[in-house]
Amino acid sequence: MGPHDGRFAPSPSGPLHLGNLRTALVAWVRARSAGGRFVMRVEDLDRGRSRPEHEERQLQDLAALGIDWDGDVVRQSDRDPAYAAAVDRLRELDLVYPCWCTRAEIREAAGAPHGDAPEGAYPGTCAHLGAAARAAHEERGRPAALRVRAGAVRSTAVDAVRGEITAVVDDFVVRRGDGTHAYNLAVVVDDAWQDVTEVVRGDDLASSAPRQAWLATVLGHRAPTYMHVPLVLGPDGRRLAKRDGAVTLEDRLALGEDADDVRSRMAASLGLCGPDERPTPAELVDRFDVSAVRGTGPLRWDPVTGPLA
Ligand code: GLU
Repeated sequence: MGPHDGRFAPSPSGPLHLGNLRTALVAWVRARSAGGRFVMRVEDLDRGRSRPEHEERQLQDLAALGIDWDGDVVRQSDRDPAYAAAVDRLRELDLVYPCWCTRAEIREAAGAPHGDAPEGAYPGTCAHLGAAARAAHEERGRPAALRVRAGAVRSTAVDAVRGEITAVVDDFVVRRGDGTHAYNLAVVVDDAWQDVTEVVRGDDLASSAPRQAWLATVLGHRAPTYMHVPLVLGPDGRRLAKRDGAVTLEDRLALGEDADDVRSRMAASLGLCGPDERPTPAELVDRFDVSAVRGTGPLRWDPVTGPLA
């Protein structure tokens, strides 16, 4: 395993937009330029929102941009036994407890400050229930989620763009009331299993990194390092989305561009080529330098001209 064995882990709930594709390109170039492995994982835990046709389109779009991956695509929907084993391990360590709180209850209780936990952190309502209180909840019949007891530990994730990301980790859900394993558990189990040593992904997930690094260590894995890539924003300053115009590869192709145009524009937005150059994927791998990502803040998408500048 090398220090830059990477992955891309899309959720197949819709088409990838240019912001997602740009992050995927960075993840791929980063791994390949360091001679690392690159694996693909479909995060389809949310059965209600995941669709095979989105998965197929996402993988096609990534391949069209020149992104390749090692081994078979891993699907989280096939990985339930591994997540259950991780929950069992946490149970052995006496680190999980059932939680009956609804989101609304948590919002209400989390409004009151508690220690140095971050805003919105789980306030610990179910962390220390006595046997009678548990029995009363069980009698009411609403299925319990399982939460891991992080005990407001301070955790630091190492990030190639941001430096160190340190946060207080609250008790978070590892299995929902409906039995679905939670993203924060699955991502840690899978990154370890797929031998991912560096997680490159969108900046919106940076605040999850200390939590995930902590859980990796608790489960006996070496925590990966991270690289959170600045997002592409719409003209309104919000995260790029469908409402912002022709933002998918399919949209761009319909406008007469080709995949090379789209990749080149992304590369230009990373300072890896000039505006009129059309580097091949292999050329991007040769040129990549992490300062290209460090140097950019969030990018604005212009709906008329479309540049990522
Ligand atoms: N599946 C997540 C998403 O599409 C990414 C999770 C990750 O990279 O850790 O937003």
